[in-house]
Amino acid sequence: MDDISMKPQQVTITALSEEGEGIGRLDGMAVFVPGALPGETVECVLVEQKKNYARGRLTQILAASPARVAPPCPYFPECGGCQLQHLDYPAQLEAKRVTVQDALERIGGFKGIEVPLTLGMDAPLRYRNNGQYPIRKVNGQVRIGFFKAGSHEVIDIKDCLIQPEINGRVVAALKTWIQETGVTTYNPKTQEGVLRHLMIRHSNVTGGLMVVLVATVKAMHGEAALVARLVGAVPEIESLVLNTNTKPGSQVLGPQNKVLFGTERIYGEIDGFEFGISPLSFFQVNTAQTKVLYQKAIEFADLKGSETVFDVYSGIGTISLSLSRKARKVYGIESVRPAVEDAVENARRAGVEHVEFIAGKAEDVMPRLAEQGIRPDVVVLDPPRKGCEPEVLRTLLDMKPEKIVYVSCKPSTLARDLKILCGGGESGLEEPAYKLVAVQPVDLFGETGHVETCVLLSHKNS
Ligand code: SAH
Repeated sequence: MDDISMKPQQVTITALSEEGEGIGRLDGMAVFVPGALPGETVECVLVEQKKNYARGRLTQILAASPARVAPPCPYFPECGGCQLQHLDYPAQLEAKRVTVQDALERIGGFKGIEVPLTLGMDAPLRYRNNGQYPIRKVNGQVRIGFFKAGSHEVIDIKDCLIQPEINGRVVAALKTWIQETGVTTYNPKTQEGVLRHLMIRHSNVTGGLMVVLVATVKAMHGEAALVARLVGAVPEIESLVLNTNTKPGSQVLGPQNKVLFGTERIYGEIDGFEFGISPLSFFQVNTAQTKVLYQKAIEFADLKGSETVFDVYSGIGTISLSLSRKARKVYGIESVRPAVEDAVENARRAGVEHVEFIAGKAEDVMPRLAEQGIRPDVVVLDPPRKGCEPEVLRTLLDMKPEKIVYVSCKPSTLARDLKILCGGGESGLEEPAYKLVAVQPVDLFGETGHVETCVLLSHKNS
């Protein structure tokens, strides 16, 4: 293929990418086709061509997958939030299993690994505990919804099927208030206007809501009327916060919060522990499936009670506290200081004293702990999408914990890191250090292409 041609090309789709696009091959080159499903033969026009891959726009489905369904959501595929509404749920779980298996084989160099079926929800609906809705006015009409796929245009959405139904009531009440008061909305091009985002978070402890309005100002006109309007319409609101974000760019929240009504935080429960959720704290968005994922991590760690454990990338301490039930000592390592402060407070509230949280980058903290002669028996890794820094993996290879449990939200970086921990050859190790014992994908993000994976490694000498 020399140039991008407008001529439709026929492609057979064999897998889904981590972003939920169909993947096929043309003359040996990978072609990503959004909207196409594994097992389908489709026609597409190439819209982008790089050295190693191309991207196609689906023009016709020549042979549809039997797993293709009518999308339950009327905003699909225009809305950029979901990518797999047109694939039935069992097939989504299987496609994610294949994504993990492919990454381990292709990038990790593992052969003959049998990845079991992705652990899923009963139905991938209404599962999110956190919704972030951009707010815009277009020709005088208020839009509160999500960005259109591949753009910054906001689609007005009355009810998002992966969010709780009650969110629609908050959206409707806010919209009426904006229309009535004439308050301006943000224009990212001119950086003018007041209201930027609506965030709604849910407590699985009380069933109550935290509503955060993100604005470019520190105070709003008519705050009391706003409170009366929103809380009047949705009495489940336990906390209403004004967050100020004056910075241009795509980051939703700014650093400053002012409570307009109710409490400063709501609480989420996982594994019997309660976690304070404030506007800026990280909390996994699918609480029920997070429990499934962490249970797997705990099962893989198989602690006896005498171990020193590292929970690296510990966030607000969710995994650390669960692990603390059966460990002599747990060290949580986390780079975001407010998250560490939350973690310390969560441990204090739970009365857990043998967990220590250290603020700093894992790649700096781990070598320091090694120098102090602190050696873990078991390490849990739960890094962001980009995976672990090489220094973290090098330190692990020196520390030689008996077990490493790797919780990953991106199969490709997981596979890359596992290759370093397990591989000889390119890892620079004379002998492979770890062996891959078990893999389990878990679905936290139904209807989207993302998948979480929990992996158990054990040291060859243990
Ligand atoms: N285990 C937690 C958080 C996982 S998300 C939970 O499940 O809730 C990944 C975490 O890694 C985030 O809290 C992020 O702030 C943190 N992080 C990102 N880069 C880091 C680094 N270099 N060192 C330590 N923590 C980091």
